[in-house]
Amino acid sequence: MIDTHSHIYEPEFNADRNEVIIRAKQAGVECILLPNINAGSIEQMLDLYYQYPNYCFPMLGLHPEDIEEDYRQVLADMEKLLEAPDHPYIAVGEVGLDYYWDKTKVKEQEETFRIQIEWAIKYNLPLSIHARNAHRQLVTILSDYRDEPISGVFHCFGGTKEEALELLQFPNFMLGIGGVVTYKNSKLPETLSVVPLERIVLETDAPYLTPVPYRGKRNESAYVVEVLRKIASIFNVSEQEADCITTNNAKHIFQRIKPH
Ligand SMILES: [Zn+2]
Repeated sequence: MIDTHSHIYEPEFNADRNEVIIRAKQAGVECILLPNINAGSIEQMLDLYYQYPNYCFPMLGLHPEDIEEDYRQVLADMEKLLEAPDHPYIAVGEVGLDYYWDKTKVKEQEETFRIQIEWAIKYNLPLSIHARNAHRQLVTILSDYRDEPISGVFHCFGGTKEEALELLQFPNFMLGIGGVVTYKNSKLPETLSVVPLERIVLETDAPYLTPVPYRGKRNESAYVVEVLRKIASIFNVSEQEADCITTNNAKHIFQRIKPH
């Protein structure tokens, strides 16, 4: 298993981060991918990477909900980090569009997203994409880059069958599935009936979106096994097979996580 989206560098884990890593390893998690949020989160994310350089892998990006007045400067500073030939970043993330809480920065969100898609192309990195209440705009923007070699994950996918099929028309993208799929009233199991297992990667989004039976508690990477179990039952395959396929899918997208 690979937890393809986890924020365990955040302060919620300051008291027991090493135990969180130990529990993830014991649960069979092969490695943990760390999406960045903003300029201020880079240092704590890299601290975790330096501590576990073959287990925790950092991404670099500005989250759509973290766009402030100085976003152009933040983006310029971040791009300098990607220019270093031996940088540790395995993806551009997390990036995208979020019109759920705040629609006042639509233009800035779209500009920021496009700039970061262009990094992914220029620096040959996959994207970890966050999109909420923005499916149409997401498809429109990504379509402008159809002829470019873009790849990545639609993290925390929670849309309809039609939306899933539309996103899967981008050939080198996977749907990131997390704890929501385990929730009692989730429509996601039914939606996934149109999605091949070869297009799914597992994630936690820790500390958020904790799967059943831990719902209500802080999420952590070890709980990705609950997502695996649910995926195996939805696709009617063994946990071992679901693990093998989704892990290969993650390695196919995040090519820089190969042991080095
Ligand atoms: Zn996230």
